[in-house]
Amino acid sequence: MPLELVTIPCRADNYAFLLHDSETGQTALIDAPETAPIAAELAARHWRLDDILITHHHADHTTGVDDLRAAHGARVIGATADSHRLPALDLAVAGGETFSSCGAEVRVIDVPGHTVGHIAFYVPAAAAVFTGDSLMALGCGRLFEGTPAQMWDSLQRLRALPPETRVCSGHEYTAANARFALSIDPGNADLISRAAEIDAARAEGRPTVPSSLQTECRTNPFLRADDPGLKTAIGMGAAPDVEVFAEVRHRKDRF
Ligand code: ZN
Ligand code: FE
Repeated sequence: MPLELVTIPCRADNYAFLLHDSETGQTALIDAPETAPIAAELAARHWRLDDILITHHHADHTTGVDDLRAAHGARVIGATADSHRLPALDLAVAGGETFSSCGAEVRVIDVPGHTVGHIAFYVPAAAAVFTGDSLMALGCGRLFEGTPAQMWDSLQRLRALPPETRVCSGHEYTAANARFALSIDPGNADLISRAAEIDAARAEGRPTVPSSLQTECRTNPFLRADDPGLKTAIGMGAAPDVEVFAEVRHRKDRF
């Protein structure tokens, strides 16, 4: 049985995710934007919560951690580098390390940029990567703490995962991201059709997350800073990739 993946809308536009192994009954939560909708989902499914995985320290990813830990006795896992500003960790991890959750291997990937201690969790058995506010559907997180070079490196690490990987990111920002992406990459046929699908999904109130890595590679301008077509489209045909990435991020901040 493959691991089951559940997406839980939280707060205004956040997502939390549950991974569940029906053979062992184990469940892991990735990010805890708030307690109530996560507790309700667990109760409705009669699932106990074994692990809470935290991508980064921002309150809209951590607010529910302590309540859910207290209610379920869950193990809390987060970045060693941010242990001073995360809820108390039972297991501190760093990029390149692996641990087991829901009977599956979880690989930790360092993805600094949005924050310097940001990590992502790649679960091969679920064909899913939990990216928080690093790689997002048609976007990437704002650079609150890190540099463009750090985020560009982070995105390249994520881009190297198998193309069928599901990208489970932390926010429903996709429609706004699509408008920006079209403004700088208007001739991208894959992007044009994806933007139409996104509008249709949102009109029906359906989430656009998770997306697939393959789709992100074709359409997400932040993953395409080394694409000659995108470079030319923004008038930076000869510029280094990281400068193109920085310019795309800069334009998005002003969009
Ligand atoms: Zn954040
Ligand atoms: Fe966030």
